[in-house]
Amino acid sequence: MTAALLAWALLSADLRTPPVMIGVVLDDPSRRTRLSATLGIEALGGRVVHAFDGVLVAEVPRGTELSVYRVEGVREVALNAMTGRRGPRSPGLAAWNAIATIGELGESTSGAEPLAHDALVPPALEGSAESVRAATGGTDYNTSEYLAGSVSVTIVLPESDGTGDASTENWTADRESAVVAEIAEGLEWGRLREPQAALAFKYTLIAGRTDVRARTRYEPIRRAADPGGGTGEDLWVKEILGKLGYASGDRFARSRAFAAARRAADGSDWGLNVFVVDSHNDADGKFVDGRFAYTWIGGPHVVMTFDNQAWGIDRLDMVFRHELFHAFYAFDEYAGSGCTCTEHRGYLDGSGANCTSCNASASACVMINNGDAMCASTRRQIGWADLDGDGVLDVVGEDPDTFLDTMPTTWCSPPAVAGLAAVVAPTNRNPSTVTPRASISVNEIVGVDVRADGGAWAPAQVGGWLPTPQRRFAATLPDLPPGPHRLEARAVDDRGNLDATPSWADVVVAAAAAPLGDSIRGERTEAAQGRFTWSSVPGAVGYRVLRAGSPRGAWSAAGETAENAWTDAAPSDGYFIVRGIDACGVEGADGS
Ligand SMILES: [Zn+2]
Repeated sequence: MTAALLAWALLSADLRTPPVMIGVVLDDPSRRTRLSATLGIEALGGRVVHAFDGVLVAEVPRGTELSVYRVEGVREVALNAMTGRRGPRSPGLAAWNAIATIGELGESTSGAEPLAHDALVPPALEGSAESVRAATGGTDYNTSEYLAGSVSVTIVLPESDGTGDASTENWTADRESAVVAEIAEGLEWGRLREPQAALAFKYTLIAGRTDVRARTRYEPIRRAADPGGGTGEDLWVKEILGKLGYASGDRFARSRAFAAARRAADGSDWGLNVFVVDSHNDADGKFVDGRFAYTWIGGPHVVMTFDNQAWGIDRLDMVFRHELFHAFYAFDEYAGSGCTCTEHRGYLDGSGANCTSCNASASACVMINNGDAMCASTRRQIGWADLDGDGVLDVVGEDPDTFLDTMPTTWCSPPAVAGLAAVVAPTNRNPSTVTPRASISVNEIVGVDVRADGGAWAPAQVGGWLPTPQRRFAATLPDLPPGPHRLEARAVDDRGNLDATPSWADVVVAAAAAPLGDSIRGERTEAAQGRFTWSSVPGAVGYRVLRAGSPRGAWSAAGETAENAWTDAAPSDGYFIVRGIDACGVEGADGS
């Protein structure tokens, strides 16, 4: 980002009043309605930050709240939590209520057991990622590399069907909603920690109570989680993913494919699956092996229980935010995790410098005890660092590129330019080999500016009506005087980054040929031919000679020449006109 634009961004942030958070109830839960309402809210200058089936949570500019009622697909707009008879009627509304009443920092961590070895390294990837997302650079295996942009969060609530293990747990609609609300609250907490990450979340709930695909013959909470073996997670995660259509490979391959597919369906940058097993009737809210929450580093999924041991459902958000960061490569920092201060991980190659063995005083950090402090080491591990000092997080701070198509160098009318604008991916410096080290951008092109001769920039037409990582553009410049000109184009992305080294082309706007005036001299040669000469005139690349039998006769073309002379082969006397021809083939005024 250039300094000038950065200054503008900071200034406007100071002047702008903070946006208002609203809950939006849609006419129906269809994706079509969700999309049209999202676009309508964006047209008002707002942004959807949590999207559920039938409910959106959005930030809108103060004063536009009432306009949201007029957006297509919107049934109801809530400025506060919906209580009483208007209370939660869906997981999305429960989530809105949790977000609307989210407390400032300071939820208690007391009485709860710390996590234990909850960040797990998944086994080596099976096969290779065949599908590369061309525009952004990532593969189907890169589903959670850094925490910026949009994330598809798929919440799976397994329900035992009693065909294998005895069924001891049964989800209810209210408790399903509570899980979704707590996860949304944890994500909202994370979103508020870093505005530049511009986080937005799109949720899919797959609840075994109502969806047979999430039913399992096992009762997960009555088993060990056994993440490294084959007696717990491996059984029911693999079974459910198979029913969801992901039946090949181990549970990691299935879960990655599922996360990638959910991401593609939502048009998100990342995808994360969250399996929450019911523990309502379980004595300690833990799996038999004592686990209650853990995450596979770099994705593809998180595993939690409903109660999370003594944290309880009301503090699931605190446990979840810790697990969320693991999925995006954050290290544990608590003493029992075995963390070291010299390990490095994450897209920006963050160190474990806040491990408790190096910094025993930082106990409120989210990666130590799920507390409210977002400590610097964690920030860099998940991509929230500005190492190049340009005021923008490095993961979203690369300037886009602009490529002008080849164009004619000579123009007889206002010149036109066309080309391609493309985002540039920040370099992936993750020393971990858990997922492919692909460089990935989450930015999108929103416009292209063009100008001539260092003048004022003007917007070009860009292709497509939704921002995408690459877009074609075209523009016709205003009338330019004859002579040489430099045309430039620069791409602009949705983070305010612009191409600081615009693509350029030098062209010449052709001048009209000047009149020959009275410079023509003629003589009759020995061979009885008429021969004329004239002075060359500005703008002429050639000359056209016209001939007539009399001054008022019918003029017809005698020929064209690039010389300053013409020898007429006709034997009879005649009258002649010579006109300059400009670079575009247009005749100038007469000379005779
Ligand atoms: Zn952890």
